Amino acid sequence: MRLGMHVRTARGYAAALERAQRAGCNAVQIFSSNPRSYRVAPLDQPALATFRTARQTAGLYPAVIHTSYLINLASDDPKIIAGSLGLVRGDLAFAAASGIEFVNTHLGSYGKRSREQGFGDACRALDKALEDIAPGVVLVLENSAGAGQLCGGTLEELGRFIKSVDHPQLGVCIDTAHAWAAGYEINSQRGVDAFLYEAAEQIGLDRIHLFHFNDTQVPLGGNRDRHWHIGEGNIGFAGFRALAARSELASKAAILETPGEDEDDVRNMQTIRLIFEGASAPTRA
Ligand SMILES: [Zn+2]
Ligand SMILES: [Zn+2]
Repeated sequence: MRLGMHVRTARGYAAALERAQRAGCNAVQIFSSNPRSYRVAPLDQPALATFRTARQTAGLYPAVIHTSYLINLASDDPKIIAGSLGLVRGDLAFAAASGIEFVNTHLGSYGKRSREQGFGDACRALDKALEDIAPGVVLVLENSAGAGQLCGGTLEELGRFIKSVDHPQLGVCIDTAHAWAAGYEINSQRGVDAFLYEAAEQIGLDRIHLFHFNDTQVPLGGNRDRHWHIGEGNIGFAGFRALAARSELASKAAILETPGEDEDDVRNMQTIRLIFEGASAPTRA
């Protein structure tokens, strides 16, 4: 698998991508703008050219944009749907203009409606989001931690989106911390095998393009979205080792979204690399 992490771009693309490379990444994820805003990122052509060049130099493939946290494609409020579509389409255009392969988005929440009613509306929103998608860009739907009315907490529901929307440029991203919080016991070989068997049945492994590798301290099925350092949480070394061992995933990419500062990023990248190299659990001082 190609391994990378989410990097902040406050000090510009060149510095961010260089930091990713120094931490040992060969894939990368960024926000295109403030993730807590409805403001659509402007297509700043010189900055996008910098991104392209810096990324080639750093050898970061694939690159991913994570969309704004405000996105809700399952809302019954037309204003929220319009704002959300603006953001998704803005990021798809940003990706096309900068050569970025994936746009990763949360689906949102059904609010007070029934899942059935919300599901149809969310499919229609996705149809619209994908209307003008450029070749070479894929929109991936990220699984949620499954709390309350959140959309996309199960493999079955994600699979239903893929089948119902039926667009070749629509795929899925599996966040391991969210999967654990939604009740998938992926902390052992057996748990990971069962999870991937179900993922293949419900979604198809060919449509799962991306993983977010995050550990978590939330209890199994705890429905809370909290990320933790790789190998130091409930998924642990065994869970990630089982994922690393699956040859069907070798052509996919995994992005870390672990907490902390630069030194934590370096440590988490080192840990995931060790796991992929088949090392046993490190003993920490
Ligand atoms: Zn996310
Ligand atoms: Zn994630």
